[in-house]
Amino acid sequence: MKILVINSGSSSIKYQLIDMADESVMVSGLVERIGEEQGVMTHKAYPGTDREAVVKLEQPIPDHSVGLKLAIDLTSSGENAVCSLDEIKAVGHRVVAGGENFSAPVVVTPEMMEELKDTERLAPLHNPANLGGAREAMALFPGVPQVLVFDTAFHQTIPPHAFMYALPYEYYEEDHIRRYGAHGTSHKYVAGECARLMDKPLDELNVITIHMGNGASMAAVKDGKCVDTSMGLTPLEGLVMGTRSGDVDPAVHNYLAVNRGMDIATIDNVLHKESGLKGLCGMNDMRDIHAAIEKGDERAELALGVQTYRTRKYIGSYMAVLGRVDAVVFTAGIGENDSIVRRKTMEGLEPFGMKIDVQANDKRAKEPMLISTGDSPVAIWVIPTNEELAIARETRDIVNG
Ligand code: AMP
Repeated sequence: MKILVINSGSSSIKYQLIDMADESVMVSGLVERIGEEQGVMTHKAYPGTDREAVVKLEQPIPDHSVGLKLAIDLTSSGENAVCSLDEIKAVGHRVVAGGENFSAPVVVTPEMMEELKDTERLAPLHNPANLGGAREAMALFPGVPQVLVFDTAFHQTIPPHAFMYALPYEYYEEDHIRRYGAHGTSHKYVAGECARLMDKPLDELNVITIHMGNGASMAAVKDGKCVDTSMGLTPLEGLVMGTRSGDVDPAVHNYLAVNRGMDIATIDNVLHKESGLKGLCGMNDMRDIHAAIEKGDERAELALGVQTYRTRKYIGSYMAVLGRVDAVVFTAGIGENDSIVRRKTMEGLEPFGMKIDVQANDKRAKEPMLISTGDSPVAIWVIPTNEELAIARETRDIVNG
């Protein structure tokens, strides 16, 4: 069974074709700058193997439909074709927010698309583009099941005492304001991988998963189920991110409005796009921040300090939530690649049984790595995430019933 996985963003489409027989990637690609004067596309057949063939295109790509069509054409025709179109038995789509009504993957119908419009306000930067991709794919693959896999689904086991905000109750009842979380597909995938690597049944594993990329979130997973997560109603709450503030005093909004005369839209934009690491030091890529620290940049040092301290604070609170912690897992762009961030995050947690092995932590690998010492009661892992494979598996499972 071959499954196409699509992650449709506001001006980009990421896609992979996965052969579920051996879970190998037959095609991977990225279409960028959709709607701009010049679009850019990189398409790889059999990526990472000795058969790899790369096609790079630069041409106007006016909309997502054109981008998706290009991807499909390169996959199924011409010299780099890997299969015919009718071999693609299902398409899986990443959707950031499912709200309360979509707590598991679904085969989407046109009626459902109407209902899903309501979720767009929960992730205004992501959901319209995610759902737009699904709409285009429905038109391009008539009769092929289109499965939506929601980033919020894994968090639906969070109990009310953890998902409720202490606001007037009717805001929950009428406006559905509550914690939903995000990155659930990634948290679920690495928790599953962690159980496999530790040779423990997932439903007996207590793990803290840290997805730390440009966006960042954590999950407390008890007996294999998510019981708390750091993102909230939207993906703004929680950890310090590339450009997102994470936790701030909610009174900041009023303070900025009164003292700086800013309106709500401007404040929202600042918290999403001008804050986080970028707000603190002007840079949102951790590699640039390390380079600046080397040159003595004190703001860059501060940004690293704030970011790692916030993460450590969440680890502490999730230890209290879980009681017993078997493992801590780092994943995503920073989590997988940045040994300094990992070391600084775990600093001072030795008395709680979390002992990092500095040499193991300094190694680099594309494979999962155990980075705790042999006598550390809590295992500390680096586990590369693979959201595409996770979406493909969910898609296969739902299509196969
Ligand atoms: P993601 O959102 O998971 O793709 O992660 C992207 C972020 O990961 C970038 O903005 C960088 O901050 C960070 N990153 C990627 N590669 C490295 C690396 N080799 N070392 C440190 N940080 C990295």
